[in-house]
Amino acid sequence: MASTTPITLRDLAAIPVERLRGVGDKKQASLAKVDIRNLFDLVTTYPRRWIDRTNEARIADLVPGEEALVLVTIRSVTKRTTRNRRTMVNVNVGDGSGRMDLVFFNQPWRERQLKEGLHVALYGKADTYRGGLQMSNPVVDMIGDRTGKIVPIYPQSEKAQINTWEMAGWVEETLRRCAERGIADPVPERVRRRLGLIDRSEAFAGIHLPDDMKTKELARYRLAFDELLRVQLVLVLRKRALERDSLGIEHAVGGEMVQRFTASLPFPMTAAQQRTIAEINADLASGHPMHRLLQGDVGAGKTVVAVAAMLAAVDGGHQSALMAPTEVLAEQHAASVRAMLDGITVPDPDNLFGDRPLRVELLTNRVTGAARKDVLAGLADGSVDIAIGTHALIQEAVDFSSLGVVVVDEQHRFGVEQRAALREKTADGAVPDTLVMTATPIPRTAAMTVYGDLDVSILDELPPGRTPIVTMWADGPLMESGVWNDIKDEVAAGRQAYVVCPLVGESEKLEVASAEETLERLAFGELQGLRLGMLHGKLPSDEKESTMDQFRRGELDVLVATTVIEVGVDVPNATVMAILDADRFGIAQLHQLRGRVGRGQHASTCWLVTQQKEDAEGNPVVGNPRIEALVATTDGFELAEVDLDLRGEGTLMSTAQKGRSDLKLASLRRDRKLIELARAAAFDIVDSDPDLAGRPDLADELDLIFSDRDEEFLAKS
Ligand code: ADP
Ligand code: MG
Repeated sequence: MASTTPITLRDLAAIPVERLRGVGDKKQASLAKVDIRNLFDLVTTYPRRWIDRTNEARIADLVPGEEALVLVTIRSVTKRTTRNRRTMVNVNVGDGSGRMDLVFFNQPWRERQLKEGLHVALYGKADTYRGGLQMSNPVVDMIGDRTGKIVPIYPQSEKAQINTWEMAGWVEETLRRCAERGIADPVPERVRRRLGLIDRSEAFAGIHLPDDMKTKELARYRLAFDELLRVQLVLVLRKRALERDSLGIEHAVGGEMVQRFTASLPFPMTAAQQRTIAEINADLASGHPMHRLLQGDVGAGKTVVAVAAMLAAVDGGHQSALMAPTEVLAEQHAASVRAMLDGITVPDPDNLFGDRPLRVELLTNRVTGAARKDVLAGLADGSVDIAIGTHALIQEAVDFSSLGVVVVDEQHRFGVEQRAALREKTADGAVPDTLVMTATPIPRTAAMTVYGDLDVSILDELPPGRTPIVTMWADGPLMESGVWNDIKDEVAAGRQAYVVCPLVGESEKLEVASAEETLERLAFGELQGLRLGMLHGKLPSDEKESTMDQFRRGELDVLVATTVIEVGVDVPNATVMAILDADRFGIAQLHQLRGRVGRGQHASTCWLVTQQKEDAEGNPVVGNPRIEALVATTDGFELAEVDLDLRGEGTLMSTAQKGRSDLKLASLRRDRKLIELARAAAFDIVDSDPDLAGRPDLADELDLIFSDRDEEFLAKS
């Protein structure tokens, strides 16, 4: 008896592609190469373009020199070898409006591919040639004799092993066979209705075989939502499970030490700092372990917020730890936290007559011998209140007496595993509250996907009284000479400067060479007579330290450096930065670098130096969107949005959970609103049914999509 229940994605996944008409061993192998093994893979391989037959340019409408798309029929094909032994395939094509020639160089297989009478879509630039139109090496999509008004173009057609019309045919066959029972829709009716989502069967038909572009858009919206919802469901389920299953510490917030600390600050907190501290306090006071991301631009004052959280733990008799990605940063944090907490004391049960000083200790691999033993003992017996260090803090031999709060600086260099390891280091079994800080802002909706199992606090306000950094673009040698003059003027006025060396590939060796070269050039040239120092990653650490110290003390005027100064360096007297070959850096990196100036009361300038570019015809290239964005704003969040727009999500998602493997239609860039809706829907669904017991279909879908591709993604919690 035929089943009448709708077909699930898992049902489709259980049917191998060989069951389709026309798929034999050879096609199966070709499909496997592009990861299509079953009908689920097939129907979730979406067209990369849709051509509207009624609306696309005809040959008669082509404008020489402009790229365009046309649908044509092959008329004739000839192949020959040119004098310099290249193969050349000439093809004559036509549509109702006219004819033109195509020419393919070094693609002999085109002769076999392009048979007379075939319908193809061409994308390329038409030029006039011998009185007619010609396209050379256009992108060709084999569309066969499909009849619909909208022709889907599938991704792998150009490889010629699978034509886009074959793909379309198989998808059509699959959907036709599903038509009677329909494709199951596990998204709750109320969510669908609220968001105006079309039914899933309709969506699959609409994306693959749309009648018009409007239908295709509705289908894309629906299926992109599904992708985002699945990712959010996994994240929200994990978040809720963490909250439910692990026993946290109910910290007593607003204790005496925190109060004394805030009172001792020489400035009032910004509104953003107050709000963030309140958000953190709510987490600390609750019995669930905190799991929060603190995003804040360079200089936004994250340290104060972190210290307040750490002190709340100490107030209640626990310890806290701050982990930094590098030893230099750990040392800097230790110095500044000690300075901030100078004079703060801890009630001492062993001493009836008073308190003992708060004990802040540094633990990195550079702390060795007796000093290390002493710190380790203090962590184990609870006499060390705050530990600051690198990954050394999570090594086997380190045990805490009662770790209450963990602050991790810079999420990017700190894996999930490290976070987890640190959470397990405490003797009393409670899970410490975790705060992750990052100075690399990412757009809010992207954060929801990349860090979706964390709560997010945002410090979106710089402390007042900063003199804003003026950023200028120096394009070409003439303007560059102005940069060196500016540096000389500032130095003459008692200020200091950074020169950031060109980024030269990934190799540290090249980077060192570039730094040395720049130093030499400036010392004997543009900056002759100034006191120059150099900083790069290959220097021994004592040399690095002494150079930094000299610069801090004002004994060097100019620090020539590689990107090692990107994080943590704080010299308020430095007021100029010149970044050489700035167009080689990404937006985020330029922004981080720029944050090294503008840290004192003097006005600061950041010069983005580039070598004037020329196009093929020798005209200067005007405009560089990244540089212009940096010039236009110093707001890290605004820049993050621009960055996402310019680069797409590729780089962003490389740091993300691998849940991205399911994001085929959805885009972190285009679908910002949809991400928010999906997240809200995920909370709605999970909070009314915490383990999806009432929605086995939905749970099964998550299992299908995430478990085999990426066990880590689910197991992470
Ligand atoms: P971040 O770590 O976010 O880059 P920091 O915590 O290092 O920023 O703070 C940068 C500087 O601003 C520090 O010198 C700090 O003392 C100062 N600062 C922090 N909060 C305030 C505030 N509310 N008002 C004035 N200065 C502040
Ligand atoms: Mg708590």
